[in-house]
Amino acid sequence: MKIDELGEFGLIDRLAERVESKEGLIKGIGDDCAVLEDGDMYTLMTTDMLVSGDHFNRDWHTPKQIGNKSIVVNISDIAAMGGYPEWGLISIAIPDDVDVEYIDEIYSGMLEVSKEYGLTIIGGDTTHGDILVINVVVVGKVEKENLCLRGDAKVGDVVCVTGDLGKSWAGLDLLRAGKEGYTEYHLEPKCRLKEGRKLAPHVNAMIDVSDGLASEVNHICRESGVGALIHKEKVPISEKTKEAARILDKDPMFWALSGGEDFELVFTIPKDRLSHIKDIDHIVVGEITEDGVYLVDGGKTELKGGYDHFRI
Ligand code: ADP
Ligand code: MG
Repeated sequence: MKIDELGEFGLIDRLAERVESKEGLIKGIGDDCAVLEDGDMYTLMTTDMLVSGDHFNRDWHTPKQIGNKSIVVNISDIAAMGGYPEWGLISIAIPDDVDVEYIDEIYSGMLEVSKEYGLTIIGGDTTHGDILVINVVVVGKVEKENLCLRGDAKVGDVVCVTGDLGKSWAGLDLLRAGKEGYTEYHLEPKCRLKEGRKLAPHVNAMIDVSDGLASEVNHICRESGVGALIHKEKVPISEKTKEAARILDKDPMFWALSGGEDFELVFTIPKDRLSHIKDIDHIVVGEITEDGVYLVDGGKTELKGGYDHFRI
């Protein structure tokens, strides 16, 4: 069977069915991080791999930006659990046309963001490969009461995002088309670690936006056994992203719902707790219902889409 018949998530589900649990494992496959018992805290573990041509492009990313992104995407998953990062392992496969100075620069990017987010690199692996591949493992921690799972959304919660969406894909499509415009965010994404820490005591479910709002809301609903209504006119898209869409004659809503790599946080919170998060940037985009995941735009249509590495 071809992989695209199952898709990325169908494949992960198929593999997950064969994996057994073990004492001490609070959450295995199926959330942004694995969650492990650790005294009065939980340990969080996550890994993300960046493949040349898929996750970065050596023609337009500087090596420093590649290093930067490889750390940010992992810390974003720690932020989505309400936790903080501590330790990192870095593995690199290096092709023939990459020299020592290029790797030095990748590491400068890694070290710069690691310092910013409190991550210490403690090991890794270095090998040769046909193309440049970087895999990062991050280990972090979260207080038990602050753990935020995808599966904790409750009917009646509102659905919020921490910032504007579609900005990464706007830059990617501009770069692909060889056009000038808003590419900064795509080249140097940020993650919402500080916001995740502040939100954690108040929210029910949380996830980061790596595959687009449609995909992330569906993950929350599936894991929580609930539905959602997302109001199209409330989905935040910045003027800079809209301008990129005008340049390319594309729909910025598609980038917001299905593009991904914005690394904002999507969370659900009971309405009466919204007063606790007044000081943290957020936009209410919808609400949790009993079943069905819909985009509301006058009428309602099923909220589908999201980035899938095998179905592009
Ligand atoms: P994220 O976008 O938050 O990084 P993914 O969509 O990559 O998460 O992964 C979803 C879940 O599937 C995570 O719990 C991840 O650890 C797990 N997962 C992904 N690939 C594999 C794999 N090859 N084997 C086991 N678990 C996997
Ligand atoms: Mg994630």
